[in-house]
Amino acid sequence: MSYKSLKLFNFLGHQHGPILAADEKGGAVLKLEDISRTYRNGKVEARVLKGISLEIGRGEFVAITGPSGCGKSTLLNIMGMLDRPTAGRYWFCGEEVTDAPESRFARLRNDGIGFVFQSFNLIEEMSVADNVEAALIYRSVKRGERRERVQAVLERVGLGGQAKARPARLSGGEQQKVAFARALVSRPRLLLADEPTGNLDTESGSEVMGLLTQAVAEGVTVVMVTHSHAHAAQAQRTIRLLDGLVVADGRTDSSGLLRVVGDDDPAIRAKAG
Ligand code: ADP
Ligand code: MG
Repeated sequence: MSYKSLKLFNFLGHQHGPILAADEKGGAVLKLEDISRTYRNGKVEARVLKGISLEIGRGEFVAITGPSGCGKSTLLNIMGMLDRPTAGRYWFCGEEVTDAPESRFARLRNDGIGFVFQSFNLIEEMSVADNVEAALIYRSVKRGERRERVQAVLERVGLGGQAKARPARLSGGEQQKVAFARALVSRPRLLLADEPTGNLDTESGSEVMGLLTQAVAEGVTVVMVTHSHAHAAQAQRTIRLLDGLVVADGRTDSSGLLRVVGDDDPAIRAKAG
């Protein structure tokens, strides 16, 4: 098993219990206040996020865009509680988790958050069905129900007939659909997708966008990092990052222009687009 697979297994969590006690309070799914993240390598300090404040409401479909290295993945990992900020405060479904212990992070991730990555991160040694089922193993779902849910979600992504296959036998697009099935089988409140179409051909990319749009229609809040203007235009909102700061927050139109909500300053629009 590769290091990445182990890490994945690890963040699938080890906790049991009720889902998100804080969740019914309403309001934002995510709230970040002045979040910064600095990496230190010896004497070298890299300030990757420099004070990010934003809220993401329940049911929103948000795209995060920006040039390579601007901090998109760092931000997404903090949103998903895979990483902690150097400073700032963070609320998940109304609960402040800024200083929450790792066990609480694991529980919230496990019960409330699904992840999809550019590189699929499937476990090669396991069948498609077992990869998906792994997301449920640490939850108190009985074996029979687990099997039913795995099969149902595989059918939903169009891979009902591939349950016993190894991931390596599938195309990239199919592997990403398995990753979606794994992310969705636990019925997360929030789905975080880091360049989910980055390794896919155009057609597979469109299919994966269809899965994301369907998840949003079913009430899942989705935050997706993307380099594609066309894909960002399918989200309701685009947050543009540059050098660790939010430089625009608006909507990408079908021509790929990011229109900043409530701001008609052409200079900002140009910087954002
Ligand atoms: P993006 O996803 O927008 O391409 P990242 O969030 O992955 O950007 O990275 C932002 C910056 O932080 C990059 O300059 C990257 O080299 C740096 N970085 C990311 N992870 C680490 C790390 N673990 N240690 C040091 N620097 C890092
Ligand atoms: Mg990235």
